[in-house]
Amino acid sequence: MKKDEEANSQMPLDLKKKIPDKIQKNDHNDNEGRNSNTKPVAAGNSSYYFKKSAYDPKSPAPYSLSRSKIDMFMKCPRCFYLDQRLGVKMPSMPSFSLNTAVDHLLKKEFDINRAKALAHPLMEAYGVEAVPASHSQLDVWRNNFKGIRFLHKTTNFELFGAIDDLWINGAKEYHIVDYKATSTTHEISLDDQWKQWYKKQAEFYQWLFRKNGFKVSDMAYFVFCNAAKDREAFDGKLEFRVSIVDYRGDDSWVEPTVLSAKKCLESNICPQSNPDCEYCSYVAKAKRVE
Ligand code: SF4
Repeated sequence: MKKDEEANSQMPLDLKKKIPDKIQKNDHNDNEGRNSNTKPVAAGNSSYYFKKSAYDPKSPAPYSLSRSKIDMFMKCPRCFYLDQRLGVKMPSMPSFSLNTAVDHLLKKEFDINRAKALAHPLMEAYGVEAVPASHSQLDVWRNNFKGIRFLHKTTNFELFGAIDDLWINGAKEYHIVDYKATSTTHEISLDDQWKQWYKKQAEFYQWLFRKNGFKVSDMAYFVFCNAAKDREAFDGKLEFRVSIVDYRGDDSWVEPTVLSAKKCLESNICPQSNPDCEYCSYVAKAKRVE
């Protein structure tokens, strides 16, 4: 077996020896918001970022798990296990502040139409027969640290996620809406490999809203803002072409995936790494030459 393969092989763990004391003690109460539960814990001469809490199979308290962590599980169960069971966070990335600015402004723009219970002109242009929905909980559902939540009794997971927008049609069904900022000369579509995660995101929110008792249409919408690069000069501004892409979702994968994620966290075996991921392969190669 090559060293790369050794690093990727299934690894039974003596968890008590490997996990710092601070993350063995967990009442699951401080795992509510995204990125809110990390602090540096000294390990030898270095500092690593460990979560203050990690999943404890013995704890009776509900365990909060965000939509992005379910994504993480689907992309690489090992990373999910390291993050959620052993409390070892992936290195963080700087936030995409331009995307955040686009989201913020789009929310404000659709809120103007929401207040009038009128369709946005873009919705009319794309034949979307709905209006931006008003609901007393909308601000909570849009808040990254709160979101819409559901306690899944079989797993005792409190699953949650934050939506960008919600539209409602004449049959009083909600449409999940997500805003996406990009810059491409290609036609906007949901066909490439990365966009499958956009689809899963919409389907997970459809599932969450259904579990909360709401009528939800299978049809989700993505509002794409595509920054044009074909202008003469920057002139201190970006120009966006805005379009709506519809997507008929199928949330049937959510329940079995949540059950699999539970099984993963209950196990004392760290899963195999994803052979296509360049990070683990990088670490294995670095170890070879250290
Ligand atoms: S393969 Fe990639 S995603 Fe999986 S544990 Fe390694 S770094 Fe994380």
